[in-house]
Amino acid sequence: MSVPKSVGFIGLGVMGLRMVERLTKLTERDVVIYVFDVNTEVTRVLAEQHPGRVVVQQNSREVAASSHTVLTMVPEGHHLRSVYMTPDVGILSADLSDRILIDCSTIDITTSSLVRQAVKEKSTSASFYDCPVSGGSLGAENGTLTFMLGCGPDDQNVGFLQSILSMLGKSIIPCGRPGLGLLAKFCNNYCSGLIAIATSEAFNIAMSQGMDPRILHKIFKTSTASSTVNDTWNPVPGLCPDAPSSHGYQGGFKLRLMRKDFGLAVDAAKSGGARLALGDAALKLYTEASTDPEYSELDARVVFKYLGGKQDWEADQVAGRTDVT
Ligand code: NAD
Repeated sequence: MSVPKSVGFIGLGVMGLRMVERLTKLTERDVVIYVFDVNTEVTRVLAEQHPGRVVVQQNSREVAASSHTVLTMVPEGHHLRSVYMTPDVGILSADLSDRILIDCSTIDITTSSLVRQAVKEKSTSASFYDCPVSGGSLGAENGTLTFMLGCGPDDQNVGFLQSILSMLGKSIIPCGRPGLGLLAKFCNNYCSGLIAIATSEAFNIAMSQGMDPRILHKIFKTSTASSTVNDTWNPVPGLCPDAPSSHGYQGGFKLRLMRKDFGLAVDAAKSGGARLALGDAALKLYTEASTDPEYSELDARVVFKYLGGKQDWEADQVAGRTDVT
């Protein structure tokens, strides 16, 4: 099946807004995107920018009632529960016959299973998928996201899911069964969260000894310390012009969301009996930083600043204050 004429989208924050913008560009002109966000200003502006293509609904039930496929992109499990289960206005209060429901949020697996079960009880012809993403705001903008699908490769809707999600991402990977899309995402963020701390610490070491971080950035790019965090999202301001660190750590992946995902990964390790050497220390750091209001809403790579990393290093380089101790 090709892309349906009606697509719903709930949760238009850093990620959702960019994904909807992309859908408006890549779908046929007669495809209508029905949107809802508790932040009504964001949906109002979006509909104004795309008259006839983006239609604002009053609640999640209305989105589900008017759309064949509904994507959700909200912060945490309790938000998804509210989107689906709030009496009278939640998705579950709409007729869900033949609906394809794709949850791209990173939430706990228990809530995701609960919602999937409730959808199944409401309509045997509806399907619900956990389908978290990786790639951040730049990936959402450029259509290079990775989708981790909570189903097997032989699921009856995989072809359809590929056709719609390929407008938003480059990799759409069935992970085996429900819940495993989320587990893959937790593991990804466990790894990238540790890399963000390790990269911050490494640059901090170099800069504390007066080294120009531009040189270290170049070296890391072609060495074993290479990573997306170093190459594209470097925590040091000024190294990657498009990265949030170069814009006061605004936009990107909020520190409090990193704390949430890191905690979900550590919980999964505990319940599966997987031994962690670094998990508790990193979780402590993300927990401390995310409870500081100065940091919690900023991009997670602000951990460099939290650890005391120099922000004004360019001025120091110009002034020649780079003595090695
Ligand atoms: P965000 O906080 O920027 O946006 C979330 C949006 O959901 C907000 O606009 C909020 O108003 C809306 N919302 C909350 N509750 C709602 C409700 N009940 N009904 C309707 N709308 C509601 O978050 P984000 O950065 O876009 O992240 C969304 C999800 O994607 C999170 O689970 C996050 O972990 C995951 N994620 C984020 C990134 C990233 O780089 N930002 C990358 C990959 C995955």
